[in-house]
Amino acid sequence: MTTPARPADAAAALLAAALGPDRVLVDSATVRQYSEDITEIPGHLPDLVVKARSTAEVQTVLSIAHGQGLPVVPVVANLNIGGLAIPERGGIVLDLAAMNRILEVNEPDQYMIVEPGVSWGDVRAKLDRDHPRLRFGYSFSPPHTSVMTNCLMDGLCNLSLLHGSTSEWINGVEAVLADGTLLRTGGGAWSRFWCTNSPMPDLTGLFINFQGATGVVTRMAVQLWPNRRLRRRLFVLAYDVDAAYGFVKSLMTEDVCDDIGGVTWPVIKLLFGQARPLFRDPGEPLVALYFDITANDERLMAAKRAVFADALAAARARGGRFDDPLDIEDLVKIEPRFVKFADFPTRFDFLLDHPGGGLTWIGSYGPTSQWEQGIRAGMATMEKHGFPPIVVTRPMRGGHFGVLRLITTFDKRDAEEVRRVRALNEALADVVVEHGFIPYKTPGWVVKRYAAQIDPGFLKVARAVKHALDPKGILNPGRWTLE
Ligand SMILES: Cc1cc2nc3c(=O)[nH]c(=O)nc-3n(C[C@H](O)[C@H](O)[C@H](O)COP(=O)(O)OP(=O)(O)OC[C@H]3O[C@@H](n4cnc5c(N)ncnc54)[C@H](O)[C@@H]3O)c2cc1C
Repeated sequence: MTTPARPADAAAALLAAALGPDRVLVDSATVRQYSEDITEIPGHLPDLVVKARSTAEVQTVLSIAHGQGLPVVPVVANLNIGGLAIPERGGIVLDLAAMNRILEVNEPDQYMIVEPGVSWGDVRAKLDRDHPRLRFGYSFSPPHTSVMTNCLMDGLCNLSLLHGSTSEWINGVEAVLADGTLLRTGGGAWSRFWCTNSPMPDLTGLFINFQGATGVVTRMAVQLWPNRRLRRRLFVLAYDVDAAYGFVKSLMTEDVCDDIGGVTWPVIKLLFGQARPLFRDPGEPLVALYFDITANDERLMAAKRAVFADALAAARARGGRFDDPLDIEDLVKIEPRFVKFADFPTRFDFLLDHPGGGLTWIGSYGPTSQWEQGIRAGMATMEKHGFPPIVVTRPMRGGHFGVLRLITTFDKRDAEEVRRVRALNEALADVVVEHGFIPYKTPGWVVKRYAAQIDPGFLKVARAVKHALDPKGILNPGRWTLE
């Protein structure tokens, strides 16, 4: 009598027959590589890794996995910083990095259609080369990471003050459901022009922030905008939180800046090569603010610069201490290392290139009315736990909400440090939630920690949606307590 094959073995054999053996990887080195990310969140081994190259192949993988009841976790670069592609229940990791075509750039209607593996670097290169009249937004994420997954996770980037989080830019998606069913959402479900999500019922939302638990998106139509001929990035060093964020708030509603951001003092020291900066001389600045101002016309640029100068003068008149604005181009001449901040995608690689390579954060969206208190409480908590208080902030969509991101680098090989980082992130999650912020790219442990605070009706309907689209619960299990 033969023993029935394990579902994973059966799936591996069927997939190797359908896609070719070179696309189905079961060796221990490969599965280990896909078992964890660079955060403190515990890893888990998948049974196999499948590399897909087309929508039809994604359908094949999901149909076979569905038949075997085997979990499927889609992934591109696995740098979401939330453990969101860790295969918590084993099964298949579906690597989509090779699906990296920009299928269309529609210049008159200002959108592009991308596959999951298209990166920030790919988009920048394509627009520079073929469509210099158009621009896209860029996150601080490494250039090889996915634009599509960022949009599906409500990401933030240098056009988010103008246009909101990146999911707001989506005109629609093509997605494969757990049983292999293919659908389109947004305008592309009807028209050959995928220039808007409206006026269709918003099925695109079924795939936003569900972290791959409702379907695997294979194409996305996403908005582009007219490029600007002139661009200035100004840095202003500030010496206390209230003055700095009073200044930011006075400008965020003025239609003057494309982007406004703030980074706390350890970022400056890291940039200058200091490892784990823990000490700031009181004479040194507390926060570096940056302001992107663009225009097509010198007169408009001059007018925007004048409003900026007035806002800074008013902030000083309120008693705030600020250094004079520094143009990034002058900064690069003085200190070439600032070139990282001069262009897009901006590279924050000093967060990744350090011994042990661990990076984690509690990133959150919430009310800018609570920013100052949240920033202070976050910094104090990080210092209390013995970590540099790295805070990144940005007003979003005309100042309707803001980013509060509390970042920690650590040595992932050091078990004791990993334990300390877990305790720190729990404390930081409490800080942001107490101040009315919601952790974004929400890790599973965060949802579990605050499940009692989340509206029960919301969770009931979210679980019903999950059940309708994925009745066997095979897609990225463990997300949002959906199963
Ligand atoms: C140094 C650094 C800086 C960063 N800065 C920013 C920033 O400024 N702004 C920002 O928003 N983010 C930032 N990030 C986070 C992240 O890297 C980006 O959001 C990035 O674009 C995610 O791409 P990825 O390829 O790593 O996605 P992955 O981690 O591979 O996937 C993310 C999620 O999407 C799911 N998924 C993957 N493919 C699909 C699919 N086809 N359909 C459905 N679900 C899918 C995965 O299962 C996972 O849950 C940063 C990360 C780093 C390391």
